[in-house]
Amino acid sequence: MTPRRPHPKYSQFRFDAGSIALNFVTTVKHRGAQPRDLLSTPAALDDWFRRAGFSNLDVESSFRDAEEALLLREAVYRTVRALIIHETPQAGDVNRINATAAYSLAVPQLDAASYGVQWESAHPIKACLAEVARDAVIIIGSSERHRLKLCANPGCQMLFLDNSPANRRRWCAMSICGNRAKVTLHRQRKMGVSNECL
Ligand SMILES: [Zn+2]
Repeated sequence: MTPRRPHPKYSQFRFDAGSIALNFVTTVKHRGAQPRDLLSTPAALDDWFRRAGFSNLDVESSFRDAEEALLLREAVYRTVRALIIHETPQAGDVNRINATAAYSLAVPQLDAASYGVQWESAHPIKACLAEVARDAVIIIGSSERHRLKLCANPGCQMLFLDNSPANRRRWCAMSICGNRAKVTLHRQRKMGVSNECL
């Protein structure tokens, strides 16, 4: 039997969760089945920040930075998930998000020679994490909270912000989990029909 090839979106970073903080959370795949962490090294974290649009800052994370980043990521995940399933988030997680949101952001500076913009920060990684944490604070604390969803695929359970007008999305992406659910339903229906014929 040929092993089923994973959908390309399952094996790489995703930036379709609807917000930067939620995109950061998607760096753990298959949270509902066999979680796989795409940020297992500081270099992977740096790569994520570059791809997420933080290319204006020269980020070079240490192991300690990466550890802090992952703690923030999981705090955001647990807090958002708890709110979606109507549970009380952990105070420690909320404290971590707030403390990180309070870090200084990078500031734009005019280059004296080229008159171009240079983004500067004494702690580039902290400035990046602050952006992620501030985004989490805004989406959790605003009316957008009612648009926070968990993908209905039990093995996926990706968090996303439902920006559809009707706010009725069930899947992280129709092209991935939505289609899988359709195929499963189709198969089940077919089996039901053949069983009835027996
Ligand atoms: Zn999904």
